[in-house]
Amino acid sequence: MSNIHELSFLKEKIQELKNDGVYRKLPILEGANESEVILNGKSVINLSSNNYLGFANHPRLKQAAIDAVNKYGVGSGAVRTIVGNMDIHEELETLLAEFKREEGVMVYQSGFNCNAGTIQAVTEKGDLIISDELNHASIIDGARLSRADKTVYKHSDMNHLEAVLKEKRDNYRNVLIITDGVFSMDGDIAPLPDIVNLAEKYNAMTYVDDAHGSGVLGESGRGTVDHFGLHGRVDFTIGTLSKAIGVVGGYVAGSETMRDWLSHRGRPLLFSTSLPPAAVGAIMEAVRLLMSTTEYTDRLWDNAKYFKAKMSELGFNIGNSQTPITPVIIGEESKTMEFSRKLFENGVFVSGIVFPTVPKGTGRCRVMVTAGHTKEQLDRAVEIFRKVGKEMNLI
Ligand SMILES: *Cc1c(COP(=O)(O)O)cnc(C)c1O
Repeated sequence: MSNIHELSFLKEKIQELKNDGVYRKLPILEGANESEVILNGKSVINLSSNNYLGFANHPRLKQAAIDAVNKYGVGSGAVRTIVGNMDIHEELETLLAEFKREEGVMVYQSGFNCNAGTIQAVTEKGDLIISDELNHASIIDGARLSRADKTVYKHSDMNHLEAVLKEKRDNYRNVLIITDGVFSMDGDIAPLPDIVNLAEKYNAMTYVDDAHGSGVLGESGRGTVDHFGLHGRVDFTIGTLSKAIGVVGGYVAGSETMRDWLSHRGRPLLFSTSLPPAAVGAIMEAVRLLMSTTEYTDRLWDNAKYFKAKMSELGFNIGNSQTPITPVIIGEESKTMEFSRKLFENGVFVSGIVFPTVPKGTGRCRVMVTAGHTKEQLDRAVEIFRKVGKEMNLI
């Protein structure tokens, strides 16, 4: 008999990954997440971060983090329901509620945690969750933790969503429709006004995960709900503090009633220590920056439009993105990974994304343009795309 501690069942699964050609090591970043980085020992233009506004290494955010550490220490020391709820956690929620133009906000340790904790807390047996088929993994996991029934509708297909509501609404007490605000693999925006109209017609609640819309869409990055002017008509709006805001954390914005309930039943809040002071200090500085200027969001959109126009001109298929997320669609899985590898060798880092993350035959190198890129860096990146694209007969 083999030794149980050898974990041979995992070794076999790892070998399967290797046989399928999907085994990989984690890339190693030296230094801060900037527009140009040293990754796996090589200097490259970074076109794969979620650091949309360049806040992750911003001097004002760093100073705010240091100030918070000096006053509050490095850890909060407890969960929020015991003695880990510092005044800065409350201040952060008040500030975020003002920014998001909603009544109340509950902050979690991450966007993932927020979905895992919120969905199960606001649904129960006898309820139905209706989810877009392309929703993020943390929504899927969050829904799995709920005792409600679950069903999916075809991606952004309002006829299908209405058919599901028509067929099933009357069999349940509460119905919750969940969608990403911006879909991370294609950069398309959910048809939120239509979703909200259908929800109101069938007396259902709405839940929008705006991880890629916050800091990007709406007035100074207020998000997809603000972009469509739907304040007060979406029950739960999730944002992350880890992407455009540049730090770490997640939150749900909505009503005071929602916040009150989650403070009793949001499990990550009850059973996991609250955000550290440095993170809270830096996040508040980021939100204040956004509230005082549109400089960062303007630059993000300017860079995104600039890059997309150049890539289209070269003849790349960049899909139907409506946001700075730019999928450069290659198709075949192995070709996609080869393209990504060659770009890296030539000085650009863009991760290749293939099945099962996206449908078979739609492999893409997903470019994330940020406010932190200079036009010179974008020009250099486009030139490398052109060179490698020609070499591989993609354009
Ligand atoms: C990234 C992402 C999350 C997770 O956010 P973190 O703060 O990184 O945990 C949740 N939902 C969506 C749609 C995301 O893209």
